[in-house]
Amino acid sequence: MCSLRRALRLLVALLVCAGGVARAEPYAGSLFDAHLHYNDEALAAFPLDDVLARMQRAGVHAIIANSRPNDGTKALASAKAQAAAAGVTVLPFVRLYRNRADYSGWFADESIYAMVQDELARGTAAGPYRGLGEFHLYDSANANGPVAARLMRLAQDKDLVVLAHVDDTAIDLLLAHAPKTRLIWAHSGIGGAPVERVRELMRRHPTLIGELSYRPGLTDDSGHLSAAWKALFAEFPTRFVLGSDTWINERWASYGDIMAGYRAWLSQLSPAIAAQIAHGNARALFADKR
Ligand SMILES: [Zn+2]
Repeated sequence: MCSLRRALRLLVALLVCAGGVARAEPYAGSLFDAHLHYNDEALAAFPLDDVLARMQRAGVHAIIANSRPNDGTKALASAKAQAAAAGVTVLPFVRLYRNRADYSGWFADESIYAMVQDELARGTAAGPYRGLGEFHLYDSANANGPVAARLMRLAQDKDLVVLAHVDDTAIDLLLAHAPKTRLIWAHSGIGGAPVERVRELMRRHPTLIGELSYRPGLTDDSGHLSAAWKALFAEFPTRFVLGSDTWINERWASYGDIMAGYRAWLSQLSPAIAAQIAHGNARALFADKR
């Protein structure tokens, strides 16, 4: 009787233990949203109080803010008391787009360069702009456009961080203009550049940082982090960051779910690497500057 009870207790203990291993608790620490847009169509549907509350509920304590046009960024930067109350630090970036037409020609448009200079001179209520972007290049050859090259050099000279949605070929081209520019690669290859190619770029360009929203192949359908990406994070623990990429209003509507998705796979990494990707690496980009 006594030994039977002991055997049952042992069995229950083993089952509880096995369950604990299979179901890791989500990462519960701080998050830094290093790819956020607050575009004009979001302003009406998701007012300032609402987006800050979404960040607070999701455990997001800092954001790279940019918007088309730059009004949304300025609104976030001006809401100092509300952002402080929500525990959110706003790092403003200059967007290169005044409207959707600018997406396709900014890299050769001198008026964009002038607009960026003007914005940088003005700054925001939250302090100077800290970066440029997000910008897009749908044809990597346009990384050699005259304004693209000048903006990369401007970022290098002024120690601004660049947020770029480009392919792997354009990473090499952009950094050839200004090899010391700190460049956040939005999505780390949204077209699915092989992990080996991402590794090659990380090794070649010490100022390259990979952002992980929409990255194909990062996790499988059941949410397990791929072994190849785990190995890449282990090799470059200081080089990856997270972002919501709220490029359409649906992303604001699902902001909490997006962050919960990150928390689920971060828990599959060592606590130290998880914390670096979750917030430490993005914080380091803006620490002790200016
Ligand atoms: Zn984006």
